[in-house]
Amino acid sequence: MSAPRLEIHLGRLHHNAKTLVDRLALQGIAVTGVSKATLGLPEIVHTWVDAGVATIGESRIESIEGLTAAGVGVPMLLIRSPMLSQVERVVAHAAISCKSELSVLQALSAAAQRQGLCHGVLLMVELGDLREGILAHDLEAMAQQTLALPNLQLMGIGTNLGCQHGVVPDALNMAELSRLTNALERRFGLHLPWCSGGNSANLPWLAAGGEPGRLNHLRLGEALLLGREPLRRTAIPGLFTNAITLVAEVIEAKLKPNQPWGERQRTSFAAAVPEPEPKPTSAAPGYEHRVLLALGEQDVDPQGLSPPNGVLIHGASSDHLIVGCQGVRPQVGDEQRYQLSYSALLRAMTSPFVSHCFVSDES
Ligand SMILES: *Cc1c(COP(=O)(O)O)cnc(C)c1O
Repeated sequence: MSAPRLEIHLGRLHHNAKTLVDRLALQGIAVTGVSKATLGLPEIVHTWVDAGVATIGESRIESIEGLTAAGVGVPMLLIRSPMLSQVERVVAHAAISCKSELSVLQALSAAAQRQGLCHGVLLMVELGDLREGILAHDLEAMAQQTLALPNLQLMGIGTNLGCQHGVVPDALNMAELSRLTNALERRFGLHLPWCSGGNSANLPWLAAGGEPGRLNHLRLGEALLLGREPLRRTAIPGLFTNAITLVAEVIEAKLKPNQPWGERQRTSFAAAVPEPEPKPTSAAPGYEHRVLLALGEQDVDPQGLSPPNGVLIHGASSDHLIVGCQGVRPQVGDEQRYQLSYSALLRAMTSPFVSHCFVSDES
């Protein structure tokens, strides 16, 4: 089989999804499965839906259109605010979208009227991470304008933490989201179906006994795909962290000096010129088993790779991953398996050089 390739264990993904859906249901929280790191891979989305994921979230309308064509029969949520240039497509294919701008609400309302459809609105609130969101003191006015626009249905409010500044979901900001939900309901005399607390970064707080309050919805990607929470990258108990693995092929394997020689300047991907007198990278000068893999920046984010046992990643350039091997003695043509971070997975899925295949799980 060709390399590099992603090996996707659908059985393990099913287990991760079912475990989280069941666990969160005990706290009254529904799950939207966010498939953007896989570019909306239909096989994975079908697996999640089988496991009880009720809605699918995607950041790009192209992926939502692809999933519609693939026959995914659950409502789809566009988790990035729609571009004005794409509102017609958004109304046609996404049931709900996240929004924080009045002009976008107006354009979606107009598109929904033209198409004779009703489009769901999740208003995003800024609670400190400084990515998307309406400031709390502007929320009531935005809700009022949403309610006044034809062919829109206000589904609720949501927030997104942990992405831009790593702001941690906690008792304080989650209580604020609940308070805002209650305030809107009281002000306008309505029930908001969704109070969407965030992404995989909310799981540690909930697992530690966080009080959900009004929170009844999460949008989960990393936890379902990689079995980890994003704030500290710790494994979530009971989930597989190896549901998706990257396989790369060895193209050179030699005993080589463990120190470079010659005058040194900037490397291909380094931000700065190395120290004038570079410190030795290994304990003592000597020889080591160095291996080159046909895998590089064009395929994956090398910073996000975890090597197999006995393998140490020295660095990467566009097309090569350079590793040192202790104990193991790979040969040219051998394959090695690496675990992926979210950014590594995202780039591998996006690269035209990386294929993927589905692996049936050993019992
Ligand atoms: C990517 C994204 C998510 C999912 O985040 P994970 O950390 O992968 O769970 C949820 N909501 C929004 C708005 C996102 O952009």
